[in-house]
Amino acid sequence: MYIVFLGAPGAGKGTQAALVARTLKLAHLATGDLFREVQQKDTELARLVKTYMEDGKLVPDEITIRMVSERISGPECQSGVILDGFPRNVRQAEALDKALAELGKAVDKAVYIKVSDRDLLARLGGRWICRKCQAPYHAITAPPKSPGKCDRCGGELFQRADDTPETVKRRLDVYFTETAPLIDYYERSGKLIEVNGEGSIESVERRIMGALSRTVTRPV
Ligand code: AMP
Repeated sequence: MYIVFLGAPGAGKGTQAALVARTLKLAHLATGDLFREVQQKDTELARLVKTYMEDGKLVPDEITIRMVSERISGPECQSGVILDGFPRNVRQAEALDKALAELGKAVDKAVYIKVSDRDLLARLGGRWICRKCQAPYHAITAPPKSPGKCDRCGGELFQRADDTPETVKRRLDVYFTETAPLIDYYERSGKLIEVNGEGSIESVERRIMGALSRTVTRPV
């Protein structure tokens, strides 16, 4: 099963994609995490990716599409994938359809997590991430048990360089101009599931799992 997760930065896409991937035992492919990994290396590509990410802009499609196409045809993705942060524009969505068609597969559903603009800004401001396992926390809505330390693995928590106010604004602009049109793209093909992303992490996950069980013909 191939499920795309859509939603603005701060909508809880990454958190929910990881939970649903674990429940459905599917691979979780998060392009933001892949790019953060790439950035750790001392390569030309790492430097290039860093300039885009720090500015809150999309990494060029050629790089992103190649990276995702390679991963998706790999052995860990054979029974399906939860795609988190990809596609981010219509060109990427078309490339994904093409890459999956070459494997005899297709996107089954696109889960759109909807959150009000006011909530998005509040959530992005207090976001902390584990350096080791990428688990997300929030100073107010999901604080760690000990300050600065990950509950799951004990790793150090840090704030992403692209969570500064100016970059957050640019990322939201990019989302509304480039990524939001994907809501129509998947609606037109009858694959869109819209879920209210407000409330606790558990209640949003329950809504997503409920909606998937009602709409996916294969058992989930
Ligand atoms: P995320 O962790 O999904 O918020 O992504 C963080 C940053 O990684 C984005 O602001 C982009 O710079 C880059 N990125 C992640 N996914 C994509 C994508 N599908 N296309 C282009 N850039 C991406």
